Amino acid sequence: MTNTENLEIAGLSVELVRKPIKNLHIGVYPPSGRVRVAAPPAISEDAIRIAVVTRLGWIRKKQREFEGQERQTERHFVSGETHFVFGKPLRLLVETSSKNRCVIQQGAAGRVTMRVPETSTTAQKARWMSAWYRGQLREHAAPRVVKWSERLAVPLPRWGIRTMKTKWGSCNPDLGIIWLNLDLAKKPLAALDYVILHEMAHFVSPRHDEVFLNVLARQMPGWRQVRADLNALPLSI
Ligand SMILES: [Zn+2]
Repeated sequence: MTNTENLEIAGLSVELVRKPIKNLHIGVYPPSGRVRVAAPPAISEDAIRIAVVTRLGWIRKKQREFEGQERQTERHFVSGETHFVFGKPLRLLVETSSKNRCVIQQGAAGRVTMRVPETSTTAQKARWMSAWYRGQLREHAAPRVVKWSERLAVPLPRWGIRTMKTKWGSCNPDLGIIWLNLDLAKKPLAALDYVILHEMAHFVSPRHDEVFLNVLARQMPGWRQVRADLNALPLSI
């Protein structure tokens, strides 16, 4: 929650954030190649448009890289594939069963077994896997939501899990609610812990201001590294 507006520049949708910084900064973020410009209040919209147009080649290149990462990580739900659970790579074993349902179990030796009806399609397997991930995330997020609400001395929020294309988490402090990106089930637990802390720190301050940053620094001194690691990974490994 910052002072954000959306601009259309040379066919690109650009998120413009005004903040008290010295120089204009252009970023392209996974997974969708979202373009975000951080600019000091004094820079005019025209100057921002020119800066973006000047770097159009670089922006397009970054966006193509993220598209490539997405394609590489497409899953077919066949035995031998690697699926990540809380940052750990697991080998998928697919077995068929006569029952008309799917059972997924994380076993020893870095393996996850999926027992499915013989006729199930890739799309069905993807939905079952996604439901399983949701359960995993719910289980691991619940105690962390409680932990951070206690440590930050803020009321226990309502929370939920969503598929989100561009964010790891979001919140509405007025309604006392936070949302977590389903793909956090694939990332290291430190990342889940950080995202929950980040969203709940917005209950202390809705902006990314000094009050907010002090909460992060006090509660998780290494948060910048955790965030950098999270953003360095493609969203859907
Ligand atoms: Zn935030």
